Amino acid sequence: MSGTNLESQFNALRVGYQLERFPSLANRLDRLRRVKAMLSEHEAAWCEALSRDFGYRSADQSSFADITTTIKAANHALKNLKFWMKAERRTPDLSLRMSGAKTYVESFPKGVVGIVSPWNFPINLALSPLISVLAAGNRAFIKPSEITPATSALLQKLIAQYFADDEVSVACGDVDVAQAFVKLPFDHVIYTGGETVAKYIMRDAAENLVPLTLELGGKSPVIVSSSADLKLTAKRIAFGKYFNAGQICIAPDYLLIAKERLDAFLIELKTAVENADSSQGSADSVSIVNDRHRQRLENLVAEGESKNGKVVRFAGLNQSCYQLTVVIDPSNDAAINTGEIFGPVLLIKTIGDLSGQISYINQSSHPLVIYYFGSSEAEFRRVACETSSGGLVKNDVIFQYANDDLPFGGVGGSGMGKYRGEYGFKEFSNSRAIYKSGFMDVSGFVTPPYSDVFRMVNK
Ligand code: NAD
Repeated sequence: MSGTNLESQFNALRVGYQLERFPSLANRLDRLRRVKAMLSEHEAAWCEALSRDFGYRSADQSSFADITTTIKAANHALKNLKFWMKAERRTPDLSLRMSGAKTYVESFPKGVVGIVSPWNFPINLALSPLISVLAAGNRAFIKPSEITPATSALLQKLIAQYFADDEVSVACGDVDVAQAFVKLPFDHVIYTGGETVAKYIMRDAAENLVPLTLELGGKSPVIVSSSADLKLTAKRIAFGKYFNAGQICIAPDYLLIAKERLDAFLIELKTAVENADSSQGSADSVSIVNDRHRQRLENLVAEGESKNGKVVRFAGLNQSCYQLTVVIDPSNDAAINTGEIFGPVLLIKTIGDLSGQISYINQSSHPLVIYYFGSSEAEFRRVACETSSGGLVKNDVIFQYANDDLPFGGVGGSGMGKYRGEYGFKEFSNSRAIYKSGFMDVSGFVTPPYSDVFRMVNK
């Protein structure tokens, strides 16, 4: 796609925004209902496209992970939007004698918002931001991932069917298109993907002072406390590594556990894998998205093994795709210690005491999420206060994302800005400060000598 096409798509959206400016509640609800219809009326086509892109992706996983979760987010916005749109009363400053004044904050659309989305949940991670963007009254321009071309092409086709080209538009294409896309003078851009590209996007956005939401990844740790139920921990870790074949930004990346509990944990993990296999069968699995990523995972494991890591492979659910593989205590210079794994490989470090676990986590940049397994509220509170991360979860993995009323996003190296639910509505709104002066003449009070005024104000 040429730059001219991108510009003409963008200009149509800009004109659409300028003509409407402040969409009514009814118009916003109508757009959200169209997002829902576009998903539910073509569920089989979406699942088929996803499976083609991944090599194999079970229809049930696609249906749950990409379709149901997105419809759920739309339902949440449909139910709550009228409350989110209400202006919030604030207290006027009486120390400056603003008697009778009215102050409030009201959310206005920002304008045209760019959405740059990744391949791992290509529908959910394009359309969940879209729901927030449309709820806030904006126009949206989506650049989906080139790594999942069938899904991106279907998205482009169906968006054109359900939305006018001055409401929502899609630009498909490779990195050249992506680079031209992020140079457009958007009113806001949300990018979901890796850290390296995020830095390019920040540089491009700086040219036009475009505000950014960056949804990145990183290494999300699992703290296994001495009070943890190992059976439950293993079951949930296995789920986190099998679901979408661990290709999830909030997948448990590495696990910190006491040396004395390691063998018992591995036995429980084997049982969890076998149970999942017999209850779901390999038909419910997902492939690694392409050969480059498969090779990347194999290299991480092989290098970890060559650097003194003990490797355990679990036969089971993902046999046709990629076996769950555990790498234990490779030496510090192994790449698996630093790079995000993003697949069904689990790094285990035998660090058992909470202080050691916390200081290990704090050595690298703030994770997207920290998982704590254990029964101690005091320990959980210590983790909360002594670390930083986008989210914090006790005794579960991944399901924090299924809560539409929680903010989602990272901090520091794992991203900036939060979206979903009311947080998404606010992220893509301009929260305008509104002040209507009252019956007191404040400028009559604030007159020289100012020192007298300040004395009164400070009282
Ligand atoms: P990707 O390769 O699909 O890239 C994401 C998007 O960036 C694509 O639309 C692509 O076209 C675009 N892009 C690529 N190069 C670009 C450039 N130079 N300029 C502008 N845009 C460009 O996805 P990925 O980066 O492999 O995604 C995986 C990463 O995303 C992982 O690190 C994962 O943790 C992270 N992720 C984060 C979240 C989250 O919500 N925080 C969700 C999913 C994935």
